[in-house]
Amino acid sequence: MPLAGARIAVIGGGIGGLATAAFASRSGARVTVFEKSPGTDGAGIQISSNGSRLLGRLGAEVGQDPPSFSATTLTVRTHRSGQRLAQLALARSADAPYLLLRRSDLIAFLSRSAQMHGAVLVPGCSATPERRDGRFCLRAGRDEPKDFDIIIAADGRRSKSREHVLGSGENNDFVSDQRVWRALVPFEAVPAAFRGDLEAGPCLFAGPGCHVVAYALPGGDTVNLVAVVRNGRRITGNADPGGLGAAFPGWCPDIVSLLDLIPASDAGDLHRHSPLPNWSRDNLVLLGDAAHPMMPHLAQGASAALEDAWTLVELFSRISSVENAARTYERLRKPRTARLQRASEASGRLYQLASPPLRLAFQFGLAAVSRLAPFALRWWYGWIHDHDAAAVLRRR
Ligand SMILES: Cc1cc2nc3c(=O)[nH]c(=O)nc-3n(C[C@H](O)[C@H](O)[C@H](O)COP(=O)(O)OP(=O)(O)OC[C@H]3O[C@@H](n4cnc5c(N)ncnc54)[C@H](O)[C@@H]3O)c2cc1C
Repeated sequence: MPLAGARIAVIGGGIGGLATAAFASRSGARVTVFEKSPGTDGAGIQISSNGSRLLGRLGAEVGQDPPSFSATTLTVRTHRSGQRLAQLALARSADAPYLLLRRSDLIAFLSRSAQMHGAVLVPGCSATPERRDGRFCLRAGRDEPKDFDIIIAADGRRSKSREHVLGSGENNDFVSDQRVWRALVPFEAVPAAFRGDLEAGPCLFAGPGCHVVAYALPGGDTVNLVAVVRNGRRITGNADPGGLGAAFPGWCPDIVSLLDLIPASDAGDLHRHSPLPNWSRDNLVLLGDAAHPMMPHLAQGASAALEDAWTLVELFSRISSVENAARTYERLRKPRTARLQRASEASGRLYQLASPPLRLAFQFGLAAVSRLAPFALRWWYGWIHDHDAAAVLRRR
């Protein structure tokens, strides 16, 4: 359908929902975004080339708007000595950099971008799809349900809209055995040996049953830390757990001192997810984590949501029937996101290998690749980072 004048409702003002609103309003649609609890999450986020390429289409200027910094390498260090095992090249081109930024800055950029073209953001308002006469309308807050041509549910991993698409009883969300801690710590707390790596990009410390990712945020004075522990429930079960460092016995003291800045009680569960059978029903379409939540180990959830947003809006503007456009979106996006879901889980297992011979083989292999072919990571992750959603549509 031509998008000019089309009435589009978006449930959820996260990265996926706001990017959809920004792309659709640029195409002339009348977009309303309902967000039940607008957050001010200052934590960091990595947006790899496949996502940043699409931010560029919304006018993002590298480094400036949203404030970000372009990572050039991914460093992997051992857990025991903290020694550098591998340093692999990341970014490929200036128009598709590997960005490190604050979530709140990305949300602010996407909100501005959507509003600049007329999208209306309704904060503090929970919205629910309701089915009437064979299609969906939307109840926002306590208002009477309203008609929209398209309802896009970007309501996150715990999406309630998913039930309306799948029918109740379907579940693809399982609590994993992994717990996650996220924290912002001052850059000056980072041991001198790691500072250079963190200034060049993300640094992964990989150990048996746990791993840690750290990277510097724009401005240079803050570091984003993510720590993942298998069977982490035991740590938070302790009545007086103190800092997280105690959960990393045998790790290099420099890393432990950083982890001690994270309160052990601030944990979240990580969830495993299997691909959904379908993402749309009539005029209701799932997007981002609502459609394909994934483990964070490849840092791809938000970039995949940006790819969804671009693809869905383009298809709506090219295909006259909403249902056909939604089916084409599913057909194009599902194989990739299912692969990302599987690969994210597998990466977590690899980082956290517990068997000493397998760990050694992994470390040896990585060190060899880093020395002999530092650009190999680009090839290894090429299917993820080089993905160009626009090129996929051209080939369709
Ligand atoms: C520890 C961790 C680290 C991560 N790091 C990265 C990373 O570096 N790079 C990356 O690409 N991804 C990363 N991710 C994944 C990424 O955060 C998500 O994939 C991404 O935020 C999904 O965006 P979304 O818009 O689909 O959903 P969300 O960001 O969850 O947004 C959904 C929004 O919908 C709102 N909402 C829900 N229900 C309703 C309702 N009924 N009415 C109105 N509003 C509603 C919610 O309040 C929320 O704001 C990470 C995830 C974790 C857990």
